[in-house]
Amino acid sequence: MIVMKFGGTSVKDAEAVDRVAGILAGRIDERPVVVVSAFGDTTDALEGILSALDRGDAGGARAVAGEIGRGHADVVGRILTAGPAATEARDVLEGALERLRRLIDGMECLGEVSARSRDAVLASGEMLSAPLLALFLSSRGLKTRAADPRFIVATDEDHGRAAPLVDETATRARSVLLPMIGAGAIPVVGGYVGASIRGVVTTLGRGGSDLTASLLAKALGADTLEYWKDVDGILTADPQLVPDARPVPRLSFREAAELAFLGARVLHPASIQPAVEAGIPVRVRNSYKPTNPGTLIFDSSAAGRISTADRAVSSVACKRDQVLVNVYSTRMLGARGFLRRVFEVFDRLAISVDHIATSEVNVTVTMAPTDRVEQLKAELGAVAEIGVTTDVGVVSVVGESLPSTPGVAARVFGALSDINVRLVTYGGSGVNLSLVVADRDVPLAVRRLHAELCAASDEGT
Ligand code: ASP
Ligand code: MG
Repeated sequence: MIVMKFGGTSVKDAEAVDRVAGILAGRIDERPVVVVSAFGDTTDALEGILSALDRGDAGGARAVAGEIGRGHADVVGRILTAGPAATEARDVLEGALERLRRLIDGMECLGEVSARSRDAVLASGEMLSAPLLALFLSSRGLKTRAADPRFIVATDEDHGRAAPLVDETATRARSVLLPMIGAGAIPVVGGYVGASIRGVVTTLGRGGSDLTASLLAKALGADTLEYWKDVDGILTADPQLVPDARPVPRLSFREAAELAFLGARVLHPASIQPAVEAGIPVRVRNSYKPTNPGTLIFDSSAAGRISTADRAVSSVACKRDQVLVNVYSTRMLGARGFLRRVFEVFDRLAISVDHIATSEVNVTVTMAPTDRVEQLKAELGAVAEIGVTTDVGVVSVVGESLPSTPGVAARVFGALSDINVRLVTYGGSGVNLSLVVADRDVPLAVRRLHAELCAASDEGT
């Protein structure tokens, strides 16, 4: 069995649907289960409905709902020209829009947008995309069945970012999906949406369809979990900075998690964790180039068995516009408890610290920009001297075999020999080496590091 997750752009027009149908047709023997996101930017539009209602602008909310309806009708029209499937799709759409209109009426009437109502609205995107995709695919000759995620993904009631109840979800997933698969159909499940044990609709947090796919893969004991996107996999660098960035063939889960934290646009580690923990290989693939292998992500404990590559560095990531805070105190000499006092301040102000370097009299950290900088200065100023530098960026090289490869640090610093490095961290996880540089130097630093450590000509060395 394979679980295949398609993003909302994979189904935006007839060509895209034909491509997805072609991918599935070639994999029928592997018994696919499809998970789909909302089409295009539907979830953003649904957020727009909620913001309008928050402002008391029910008219604005209805206007956005109308746009969502027209957008979907347009997609349906491009894919299903006539026949019973077209009629059925229009019925599905009309039913969903009617539900959305009633939700808006209810919220307008109450003058309140509760967390529970928000989820009822936000779920609309996937509650539409899954039945529509099932119809689109069946019009292309595939036997499909839309499966309602509210009867599959059981969650707590933490609306907006509900946590799945893993065992209950597994039981439900098997009882709903296995009979469909047994009957030779491809289940099509909307991602992101679930329901509490009481049956109240919930959502898993933005981008949650990836988590749905991973949960289902684990529940069904899938052989593979595939994320179909419009890029070639996880890349060796941001292609906007490095035009010759390439897909990384194999990446450990730890590397993928570090990359996400260090600013790369990759799958959220929490989303793929259930499948990775269950030992299910995860692949990121490009629906525009279905024969490309993409990137394989595997459990780090298997790192010894599956080589990440022939190179120490898998990928170069960066975070722009960060803040560097330098805390300096001679009182720290030989004293204890200083670090605790410093970090208590960060904790009190709810500021999350990213990278840290310390010496005997100094602590330097990086963090995302925050409006609490003045407060931070005032509170830390009571215990030490403070320097705050904005406009810095963090450039990181990530690789499972960094600690066991001699000479990488020399190559990193060699590549950056004319760039001023403000801070270095290495050795925490052993999987990344990060450097803080002026933000304007980030693009050049990334290109240099990529050329030195990830360039195609380096393959096999
Ligand atoms: N449609 C939801 C979102 O845009 C969930 C997803 O796409 O994964 O966040
Ligand atoms: Mg989406």
